[in-house]
Amino acid sequence: MIAPNPHSIATQMEDVLRNLPSGVVVFDAACQVAQINPVCLELFKLRLHPAELIGLGWRALFDHMAPAFDDPELELDRIKTLIRQDCPDQGEIHLRGGQTLLRHYVPFVRNGEIQGALWQLQDVTAIRKQQGQLEFLTDRDPLTGLLNRRGFDRRLKMLEHHPLGQHGFTLALFDLDDFKRVNDTLGHPAGDAVLTEVSNRLKALVRLTDMPARIGGDEFAVLMPECRTEEQAVQIAERLISAMAVPMQVAGSIIQQGCSIGLAVQRRAGDGNPAMFQRADLALYDAKNSGRGRFKLFSQRLKHQHDTIHQQRDMLCDGLRQGQLQLYFQPVLTIEPEASRFYVRKLEALVRLRDAQGQLRRAEEFETALADAQLGVKVDRYVLDAALRQLSTWQRQGLQLRLAINISPHHFAHPDFVGTVRERLAAHPDVRPQDLSLEITEHRPSLNLRVVNSTILELRRLGLSISLDDFGTGNASLAHLQQFDVSVVKIDRSFVRDLLQDGIDLSLSYGMLRLAQMLGISAIAEGVETRAQCRALCLLGFRHLQGYVFAQPMPAEQVPVWLGRYESDLSWLAALSKPQILDAERAVQALVSHRMRARKLLAHTMDATEVQELLHPQATQRCDLGLWLAQQAEQCDHEPQYQQLVQAHTRFHQCLMAAVNKNDADADLQLSDSSTAVHAAFWDWILHTVENKKPDRG
Ligand code: C2E
Ligand code: MG
Ligand code: MG
Repeated sequence: MIAPNPHSIATQMEDVLRNLPSGVVVFDAACQVAQINPVCLELFKLRLHPAELIGLGWRALFDHMAPAFDDPELELDRIKTLIRQDCPDQGEIHLRGGQTLLRHYVPFVRNGEIQGALWQLQDVTAIRKQQGQLEFLTDRDPLTGLLNRRGFDRRLKMLEHHPLGQHGFTLALFDLDDFKRVNDTLGHPAGDAVLTEVSNRLKALVRLTDMPARIGGDEFAVLMPECRTEEQAVQIAERLISAMAVPMQVAGSIIQQGCSIGLAVQRRAGDGNPAMFQRADLALYDAKNSGRGRFKLFSQRLKHQHDTIHQQRDMLCDGLRQGQLQLYFQPVLTIEPEASRFYVRKLEALVRLRDAQGQLRRAEEFETALADAQLGVKVDRYVLDAALRQLSTWQRQGLQLRLAINISPHHFAHPDFVGTVRERLAAHPDVRPQDLSLEITEHRPSLNLRVVNSTILELRRLGLSISLDDFGTGNASLAHLQQFDVSVVKIDRSFVRDLLQDGIDLSLSYGMLRLAQMLGISAIAEGVETRAQCRALCLLGFRHLQGYVFAQPMPAEQVPVWLGRYESDLSWLAALSKPQILDAERAVQALVSHRMRARKLLAHTMDATEVQELLHPQATQRCDLGLWLAQQAEQCDHEPQYQQLVQAHTRFHQCLMAAVNKNDADADLQLSDSSTAVHAAFWDWILHTVENKKPDRG
């Protein structure tokens, strides 16, 4: 065997190094240059021969190379660490002029000792440039030049782990309101022009460190690493909304393009839920739902609401699939003092759901799911059928009853709705349309007035009656009363609840009843829970009442039993069915106007004539309540409750005088207290009187 020639091996090594396309430096155990090839010298633009560098320490070699580094200090730090490292490493070196080198460090380790190391440097500038261009193309939206969804997701992920995001950041998602209309009416080029203008406004508003993106058709997002508090986020959202609200000129038309914004603020990286996108998305959903052109901040409350909605939907879906819905019925009572009688001809059907645990759930427990566009329609179909079936069963039993059913607002506004009703009625020919009443609730925004109105008209022509449910809680109660041809309004139970406590609810209920009467619409007071409320409502003039004090909603089979005994169970109502007691209605008017007077005085909005009237020496006798009290004196003078009311009334007028003359906080407080006292004494006396009048059976 021929021994290898050490000289020829060294020559071969030199040849290899000289011809390698990448730069190579070999260090010995003392960290001195053992080999360096010409490519390496070229990379660092060193006009030296390799032989001049051999034997230099690493630091001396670095000094030669330093002017070529983009950041010499950074590189020095890296080399200091690497030179003692016993495992291989790879990284990038940035040179001045934009050049990028890929660096491999390979230590020679023997018996745990570093015997030397090889550094290999490869010029990857061209490859990186191509990658950058490719990334730009795949990460950008071609229309607006903003990041696209992919680019945005990558930056969001990076930010969650990058030092820039460690102190928290904000994610804003926004959606153009009604953008589809622009595309549909003005065409797609106009739509593109709007999107471009929106993106320009966005670019003009954000900071250099912010990352705006177009993440879907009309959906945009901004990542804001320097926005770390909710206050800052709110300011930015307000600026964005007003910038977008400025009208823009597109395709010869002026367009006002609103937007809705959802915000999620992460105070510190890793402060809980990392799902920033879902959080902002939830806030955006909430913003859109609560009317457009708004922003909402993510909060735990919002998450809870969202979870509840989902649970309710799941529960209702399961119930529908497994046939676990059932109707309960609550009677509506009619009191006719003029004819000295009360009776029940009508019931309201209320849906109930048996859940997976066998528990019966009230509609209130899944009310948001009932308002869902798709689920609501399915429930309504079930309710319509079940109600019509029940009506014919009762008819066969000789019970002449009318039924009110609740309809989901989405369904009511659906173009097929009237057709569905007509079809279901045709399937139950023994039921007269007059026996069916449909309740629509008006507390949801965005009822399309034109559609709702024409649906109401068609249904009325079919013979059905329409009720406005939860009246007084919506945005446009009065307008709806005037616009829609409804037959019944149901005054929301919140007014009834506070009737005896608060003078304002008294005047509102009273006002709503009078308005309905003027328009020839009957009014039902719902949620009547106590006899006192029932008496007060009768005094106000209500003739139709519904609530637990008469009956809880009950299953169909209990209805005939209840009907058979309610007259005796509710015999206390007989006292209310006496016409003479209702003289008190005038007193209610007086009480309401009294209360309003105190309010006006306290708010300093009274005019001079009214003040003059208050200061009149006979004011206590001349006011409406005074006149009415005087009328009752003959019959009631001996009643202590009456006397208390007279005293409270006198004191109220004294306080009024004091408040006019003194005009200080103490006098105002006394006036307010004395007004409350009149209110309490009034109901004490009225309800006591009604209670103690013997029913007139004559
Ligand atoms: P609503 O139509 O205003 O029905 C009255 C609600 O008040 C019913 O609750 C009823 O049980 C309850 N209620 C009756 N009297 C009293 C009372 O004296 N005090 C109190 N605190 N509550 C009383 P429920 O059945 O849970 O229904 C809640 C809402 O769900 C209904 O309000 C209605 O908007 C909706 N809903 C009920 N059934 C249906 C249905 O079949 N279809 C649709 N789309 N919605 C329904
Ligand atoms: Mg109802
Ligand atoms: Mg209601």
